[in-house]
Amino acid sequence: MTDESSKSAGFNKMGQDLEDDTNFMEELHRGTREFFESSYKRTQQMQKLVAEGQHPKAMYFGCMDARNVIEKMFGLELGDALVVRTIGNLKMPYNSEDSASIKLNAELSLALDVKGIEYLFSVNHSHCGAAETLAFDQDLPRIRPWLDLVGGKTLEKTKALNPKLKGPALARALEIQMVKDNYDALLSYPAVKDALSESRLTIFPLLFDMEHGAFLEYHPENGQFTQFANIDSSVDTKISCLAHETSESDHDH
Ligand SMILES: [Zn+2]
Repeated sequence: MTDESSKSAGFNKMGQDLEDDTNFMEELHRGTREFFESSYKRTQQMQKLVAEGQHPKAMYFGCMDARNVIEKMFGLELGDALVVRTIGNLKMPYNSEDSASIKLNAELSLALDVKGIEYLFSVNHSHCGAAETLAFDQDLPRIRPWLDLVGGKTLEKTKALNPKLKGPALARALEIQMVKDNYDALLSYPAVKDALSESRLTIFPLLFDMEHGAFLEYHPENGQFTQFANIDSSVDTKISCLAHETSESDHDH
């Protein structure tokens, strides 16, 4: 672990005093009252969803980072989406003997086979603590075993493709490689294989570019990233550069 990594990257411990905690709980109670008194009772949206059951339109995988507010960023309402968030949104290729694979395949099967969901979003993000912890080789003994297990090969691949990158630049390249490897891993799951072979699924591998406030969409057919949903064309050039300059395999584009 380097001094730089412990101060500026990865998962850092944050201190909060008691007054902050009290204010936070007041805010939490106020927000809870507002939600149940307005959104819940007045619109009766939840009662409708209880009576008719849930019919989500999409499934989202994302990092558990507090800034990665998937439902808010996509403008989703109650009942619109199934959401699974984990550290770094890292996925391993399917292995029928492995409990993490069995869990993920069950989640995918619930979405694709049972609920008939046709749109699957896998959303990684920039400035991800998981990527920074790996890139900075942070010593976090209760977190690293998982990150090494699901992200170790992606880190090795990123370093091999970008041998000169270090520190934050390596973390940014790793985040991009995580999008690609997550997509490849998803293709190995039986629930995804069946849905794709029956033409009932579209997968959107995305990178949430937190710095510029945009989504990059990865296109596996040509290895390119483009802006998702045309959020702001003025940042397109910057984030396109981000997607390409960090990967030497893309130097010809
Ligand atoms: Zn993250």
